[in-house]
Amino acid sequence: MSLKFRLRIRLLLMLWGIFLLTLFLPSLYYNNYLKDEILRETQARATRELSLIKDLMLREEEFAGPEQLHAWLHRVSDPLKVRITYVDERGQIIADSEVPFDQISSLASMDERPEIAEAYASPTGSSLRHDRTSDSNLLYVAQRIEGRGKIPGGVLRVAIPLSSIFYALRNVAVIQRLIILTGFIGFALMSLGLMVSTSRSVSLLSKAADSIGQGNVKSLLQFHPRHYFYPLAKSIRENAERVESYIQTITEQKSQLESILDGIEEGLLLLDSTGRIDSSNRAARKMFTSVPELKGRRPLEVIRSPELQAACNRVLENEIHSFHSEVTIGANFFYHVHIVRIEHQKDDYGAIIALHDISELKRLEKVRRDFVANASHELRTPLTSIKGYTEVLMSDESDPDVRSSCLKVIFKNTNHIIKIVNDLLQLAKVEDYNTIMDIRPVRADDGLMEAWKACIPAALERGVSLQNYLASDGPLVLADFDQLVQVFRNLLENAVKYSPSGGEIEVSSSAQNGRVTIAVSDSGPGIPRHDQQRIFERFFRVERYRVKESGSTGLGLAICRHIIRSHGGAIWVESPRKGMSTGSTFFFSLPASEEEAVSPLLS
Ligand code: ADP
Repeated sequence: MSLKFRLRIRLLLMLWGIFLLTLFLPSLYYNNYLKDEILRETQARATRELSLIKDLMLREEEFAGPEQLHAWLHRVSDPLKVRITYVDERGQIIADSEVPFDQISSLASMDERPEIAEAYASPTGSSLRHDRTSDSNLLYVAQRIEGRGKIPGGVLRVAIPLSSIFYALRNVAVIQRLIILTGFIGFALMSLGLMVSTSRSVSLLSKAADSIGQGNVKSLLQFHPRHYFYPLAKSIRENAERVESYIQTITEQKSQLESILDGIEEGLLLLDSTGRIDSSNRAARKMFTSVPELKGRRPLEVIRSPELQAACNRVLENEIHSFHSEVTIGANFFYHVHIVRIEHQKDDYGAIIALHDISELKRLEKVRRDFVANASHELRTPLTSIKGYTEVLMSDESDPDVRSSCLKVIFKNTNHIIKIVNDLLQLAKVEDYNTIMDIRPVRADDGLMEAWKACIPAALERGVSLQNYLASDGPLVLADFDQLVQVFRNLLENAVKYSPSGGEIEVSSSAQNGRVTIAVSDSGPGIPRHDQQRIFERFFRVERYRVKESGSTGLGLAICRHIIRSHGGAIWVESPRKGMSTGSTFFFSLPASEEEAVSPLLS
């Protein structure tokens, strides 16, 4: 049995108990009061009648004996409807209006009757008893009487039957109880019905309240307009709808705010007054993916910078209003940090940490610095050489041989500087985001042949030949033709440069998943494994070939990588060549084209 049910039953029983008590007790009291009043009145009447009989008796002439007294008593008692008994001082009955005279002498002594005993002690004695002879309740009233003539002194007693009065009283009580019972049954049924219907309504209201708590206000509280809970239900529904509309507005505003915050590139961390992270935006979560949950953590747990934590503490303690600085985390992460104190309300404050990731900026700065250093270094070597030989020319102008060899060196170094400058210009061009690329379907074979033309003199000089496996109707790629030629040219120039005399360069292709991969292989010395990634960096050259590499700038492969990446492809090297102990194969991939190629050479 549920607690709610037990409570209801207890409440109902209490209500019924109160109902019964409030009706039953007054009725009980009223019945007793009525009985007492009737008894008192009957006693008064009996006393009056006894006095009257005594008076009448005294006015009568003296009785000849007990028999005349008996007859007289019988006569007087008849209209009064009472029993009259005359008892002498010994307690013996002398005359009785309801007992035949010849039986009087056989009646028991009365001296122990309470009313008789009381009549001797006080003016009037009375007693209420059940009489076995008449099987009824009788009220006895007795008074002393003086003896006259042949009649001795004693006690005159009247007995008034009360059975009819008591019967009437009992009937009244029974009727009263019936009325109370009927009233009680009616009340019980009504209160039960009311409780059932009320508790059903209350349970509906409580379910509705629960449901509202869970954010659902629709299709609830459908009470009939005449239902006594209708006004309450109506007001609950209206309030719930109002609350729902507020919630909706707040939710919309919240999601708007979240989208704004998530749209901001800076990482934002909102600290509460205890200095713990309360919320964060998407950029911040992306910055600290290694921390599973930012909420509830202290800034130091997320950004391992004691300096930043100290700044947060100072801002939260209102020592400073805001803080700006650059924070370095590890070797590669740099942030511009801005901390501001925010006050929502009195005693409700926090702080916002805005983190601007400047790692890429820093990296580019370093690249630029390295580039300037590298370029200066690369240019300084030939320039130093030119300067040296020029000095020689200036000091010893007479020796034609020395002069000629000096001029050759100057010429060679000047060419090298020109090549570096050209390559740098080329790199700047391909790196320029504003350079418009003319991407269209082109035949890779056309690009290869165009590039090979420029390599032919060097190839002839070294006896290096080209084995072209790209069929004449070869792979179609989506590319800027000039840039494709540039890639082929750089790869072929390297292949020619590093191939041994009489070596062979092979160019082939394969297509897969909408991409064409072109491979340029040579039989040169190959590239050490640990340098294979680095050869695509600017100015990087494999150390052991440096001496031989006259005319090397270390920029060719960097240019290739940039071009290929800007086409959405990739470039990599495998060395030694597959199945061989030397040589290298340069691969690059480009998007394949389905459409027919338009020859750029013809257009
Ligand atoms: P460059 O050829 O002008 O020096 P690259 O960027 O084209 O510059 O090449 C970078 C370096 O990679 C070269 O200096 C060389 O050490 C190495 N390299 C490039 N291609 C080959 C090749 N086919 N065989 C061996 N080494 C190569």
